[in-house]
Amino acid sequence: MNQKIYLDNAATTEISNSVFSSMIPYLTQKFGNPSSIYDLGIENKQALMTARENIADVLECNAENIYFTSGGTESDNWALISSAESRKEEGKHIITTKIEHHAILHTCDYLEKRGFKITYLDVDEQGMVSLSQLKQALGNDTILVSIMTANNEIGTIQKMQEIGDLLKKHPAYFHTDAVQAFGHIPVMPTKWNVDMLSASGHKFYGPKGVGFLYIRDGISLPPFIHGGKQEKGKRAGTENVASIVGMGKAAEFANKTMNHNIAKITALRDYMIYRIEHEIPYSHINGPRKRRLPGNINISFAFIDGENAVILLDMEGVSCSSGSACSSGEKLSSHVLQAIHLPEEYAKGTLRFSLNEKTTKEEIDYTIEKLKEVIEEERKRNPSYTSFLKWNYKR
Ligand code: PLP
Repeated sequence: MNQKIYLDNAATTEISNSVFSSMIPYLTQKFGNPSSIYDLGIENKQALMTARENIADVLECNAENIYFTSGGTESDNWALISSAESRKEEGKHIITTKIEHHAILHTCDYLEKRGFKITYLDVDEQGMVSLSQLKQALGNDTILVSIMTANNEIGTIQKMQEIGDLLKKHPAYFHTDAVQAFGHIPVMPTKWNVDMLSASGHKFYGPKGVGFLYIRDGISLPPFIHGGKQEKGKRAGTENVASIVGMGKAAEFANKTMNHNIAKITALRDYMIYRIEHEIPYSHINGPRKRRLPGNINISFAFIDGENAVILLDMEGVSCSSGSACSSGEKLSSHVLQAIHLPEEYAKGTLRFSLNEKTTKEEIDYTIEKLKEVIEEERKRNPSYTSFLKWNYKR
């Protein structure tokens, strides 16, 4: 393969040509400020409205419920911090899960330091939240529940309808981080009784540094960023028009292609999982088989180091990511793999491949061949593997 094979779409996606072309005019001749009352401003304001409508079409909600932000992290911070601050007289209890993105978990740390009590729900070995545990955790002082729609590492899709039905009877706000889900699987905040929903442009072929927060009618969420009157006074600052237009275009494209892409990407994903499981010994698929993001493959290999494998695969032209991170010189498996109780021997050898609709079978076949070589090489260098083989042979 001469070209790079990009299998890290959960980290970020390449903007499509149509997204790029839609943005250019707003970086060049249509450079006006949407708050200006003359033509150049008005056409920018209209462009924002079109993007809002495109996003609302995907969510099956009203365009007025969409507020533009600088991305998933800001949307998550806004939803959590502003909900907490505005409802602290009613209670100081927040419920979330152990497998959220750090944009949620570190915001919860921040709130904990400010006197809020956080319950982190466990998940089962597939990454699913238990409804009965959620029910038990809900108290009179619970003001907010934040549960991600789909997990960025292991791809688990939560039972959003059931969670929403349960929370309907409770006054707590229901927020969901849909950063990995929006544009890839159906996301229906009104049907699910979701009050707030975060998403991010660069995860669905839009640009980086732009996202949105859906806020349901009747939720009075105070602003998080203070200043001018943009976004109905809820999110100040001159809008990033070109990026918002690009994100709107990406949403429009996602709406048209979602069903087709889900079928296509899921088939390729399952093919890759099947081959890995059958051809590479001591491998373990993390996350569910069915309730899983179409493009997500998270797989652990015993006796290898995930980060080394990422580097070796990169040298072979394949980009993917690992399931561990270096913290103070020590390699730690991710909090998600810890939450599903994956044994450390497997967790440290975890790789995540995330496919998109452009991924081809040839690319997957090439990746699997290279993966086999890399794993063999890694294992050969690992003394525990050699002694394991000897021990296994003697049995
Ligand atoms: N939430 C989830 C589930 C994510 O995967 C990410 C990014 O990886 C974020 C939030 C943060 O989004 P952004 O990169 O737009 O700040």
